[in-house]
Amino acid sequence: MIVTITMNPSIDISYPLETFKLDTVNRVVDVKKTAGGKGLNVTRVLKQLADDVTASGLLGGFLGESIKKDLDEAGISHSFSQIDGETRNCIAILHEGKQTEILESGPVISDKEAEIFLEHFTDLVKKASILSFSGSLPTGLPKDFYAKMIAICNEQHKPVVLDCSGESLKLVLKGDAKPLLIKPNTEELADLLGRDVSDDIAALKAALQDHLFDGVEWIVVSMGAKGAFAKHNDKFYRVKIPKIEVVNPVGSGDSTVAGLTSAINNGDSDEDILKKANVLGMLNAQEAVTGHVNLDHYQDLFDQLDVSLV
Ligand code: ADP
Repeated sequence: MIVTITMNPSIDISYPLETFKLDTVNRVVDVKKTAGGKGLNVTRVLKQLADDVTASGLLGGFLGESIKKDLDEAGISHSFSQIDGETRNCIAILHEGKQTEILESGPVISDKEAEIFLEHFTDLVKKASILSFSGSLPTGLPKDFYAKMIAICNEQHKPVVLDCSGESLKLVLKGDAKPLLIKPNTEELADLLGRDVSDDIAALKAALQDHLFDGVEWIVVSMGAKGAFAKHNDKFYRVKIPKIEVVNPVGSGDSTVAGLTSAINNGDSDEDILKKANVLGMLNAQEAVTGHVNLDHYQDLFDQLDVSLV
């Protein structure tokens, strides 16, 4: 079983408006509300791949119940730890070709809630074959919380695919408990190293050999329309992808994480792991709905990808 972790989920609300008027009433007809958060996008893609997946993390209040209902309706198994606070709303107002976002910071997690979650999580890890953690940590949890969770997984020899950024990722990389895989995009790679990295092979190779990444078996740098560059132990791969019609690339990285987790869980070859990840990222970019992929086009794209050892 694959376990996905979303520590700071949300109800994502989209309000499409012809024009957005300030300081007066805006009426919205076509409101969309979906269970959001990067880990839930990963979960949805894994479900579409027919993988055995359970979503976990923290949920609370009325909106937490609403997310559970959404997952139930999609037939997705879940096992969240309950918190007292209310799960957050994230609002995107789509107007005049622009997107104005209102993002709630979300509930503050108490020490007791963190402790209860870790007990729940430890039980879940026993049943998992692989885990993927996505997104930011909610307020109240220490910045090294992912590092603590990875230590629990490592004790049980369960691999972790980690997709987060900022301080929580830096603390994981500096700590003793390493994830199996990280998937920074080019911006996140630059943030980690404190400098921009050009997309030529020599520069990427040098960047991924930085001591910061010591002990992390797989580093997959996703590069949007340029595909990806990856390091697996001492091997380096360049993934070239064809040009595609893009509808909405939001969530492509989450779809990529779903592909990486699924393929590693299946014991696929390095080449197939990277192909599955990129095909799913591209399929997400071709759809309007985040975390949705049309698998009818899977094989066609798969056959067009080029993964080479560099
Ligand atoms: P993130 O969403 O984490 O920033 P990326 O934008 O790098 O991640 O997207 C992940 C993967 O999705 C890419 O490696 C690529 O395979 C695919 N992808 C994303 N954007 C595009 C695009 N504009 N054209 C083609 N493929 C894309």
